[in-house]
Amino acid sequence: MQPHYHRLPVFDAGGMELHLPIVDLGPGPARLVVVAGIHGDEPSPLVLVDRLVIALRQRELRAGIRVVAAANVPALLQRARWSTWDDEDMNRIGDGDGGPALTRRLAGAVVGACEGAQVVVNLHNFVMRTPLLAIQPPGASPEHRARHERLLAALDPHVVWVFGSSPNDERIFAGSLDAAIERRGPHVLAVEMSDLPELDEPLLARALAGLLRIAALLDCLDDIERPPRRNRVDVRRHLVRAPGAGIFEPLAALGGRLQRDDVVGELIPLERPGERLAIRAPDGGWLIQRLGRRFVRPGDMIFTVGEPV
Ligand SMILES: [Zn+2]
Repeated sequence: MQPHYHRLPVFDAGGMELHLPIVDLGPGPARLVVVAGIHGDEPSPLVLVDRLVIALRQRELRAGIRVVAAANVPALLQRARWSTWDDEDMNRIGDGDGGPALTRRLAGAVVGACEGAQVVVNLHNFVMRTPLLAIQPPGASPEHRARHERLLAALDPHVVWVFGSSPNDERIFAGSLDAAIERRGPHVLAVEMSDLPELDEPLLARALAGLLRIAALLDCLDDIERPPRRNRVDVRRHLVRAPGAGIFEPLAALGGRLQRDDVVGELIPLERPGERLAIRAPDGGWLIQRLGRRFVRPGDMIFTVGEPV
């Protein structure tokens, strides 16, 4: 099945035309849309959708699958979370609300490109080393939760990050791109992974197998995919940030159990080499994400503890 590469025109910004790059595969309208590149400093999803398109090229498809290869080209070209053309976070402006800013127009185009699909998988990555992690959003109805669980069973992630259901959690989610897509009909599954330096083959293989099982669940493919491993944990996520500037040195193994006050890593302070600072787990649980050896600024994310729900 040969992919059809095309571009949806978004805007003529005074001599520079803006497009949304699209790959359509298979017959008929897309039942599954996979979105990459909402945030310009998250390039890992492009590796995964490359593997997906190569895998689908060798199959007979029964229904359409669409890949939005780079949702936020201006931010990707600036290697920044959002583009400095308008400083709008594409994940926090819904469908753009008809606004004239370029990121708003692009968000509207992404939502439009997803319309008519049954399921949208929205791919992101963290700077922290992250296993295949899917999000359970707040405030869902029982029907939404049941549909979500079927998609999670097909994706088979290592970790499900279960959001709290406080009014603040629900408010933040209601303003997201994912919520804007769901208001048009499709069900959205948000998926996270590692940044490029730590995106390894086992993680890519697990993510690709999961996407193919979701495609089979939607009857886009007719063959049985690799069986899931079903070793996932469902957790609430407790984020720990760098207390100062310096080099973070990881010590604890990703995915391991933590007791409260266990040392997860050390900070080599910028101005006091020789006086390392131990950084400890604030709670017991699983070490679900952590940085590799990196330079950090005060407040940078360094690890998360997952508390089983
Ligand atoms: Zn992101």
